[in-house]
Amino acid sequence: MSEVIIGEKTEASASFCPSCGSASIEVKTIGILVPGRSAPAYCLACQWSGVESELVRTTFKHEFKSDDEIAQAMMTDLRNLLAKTAAASYGSFLLKWGFLDKPIKSEQLGRYIMEIAQATTRTIIETRKKMEEEAHGSPVQSR
Ligand SMILES: [Zn+2]
Repeated sequence: MSEVIIGEKTEASASFCPSCGSASIEVKTIGILVPGRSAPAYCLACQWSGVESELVRTTFKHEFKSDDEIAQAMMTDLRNLLAKTAAASYGSFLLKWGFLDKPIKSEQLGRYIMEIAQATTRTIIETRKKMEEEAHGSPVQSR
């Protein structure tokens, strides 16, 4: 999965007030913090005050910049997976149907693997979008 990680920050977190759930939190980080000891924290929405470790923290995967970046990362990941696990199967399949020249050139097979990964990734993303559209009850658009 390491290929999917883009950029330095792949995880982000958000903190919320344990009392009212607000994200308007102020954590006092000025001064020397003792490792393992929490910094004082305050809620700006209600009157709650406590320490940072009491905050409700939600960690989430950092958003990719665009769909293209996800698709690109997915495609690379899938291409590597196919090259590692399925190159021989695709090779004999393509050979059987006359889509590979003999003797088999690795560049030619590699090109197919890459294109297969690209098309598959596109299909996966489109299928997911359709699933979400169906799940949200919006009318399925006919094309
Ligand atoms: Zn609060």
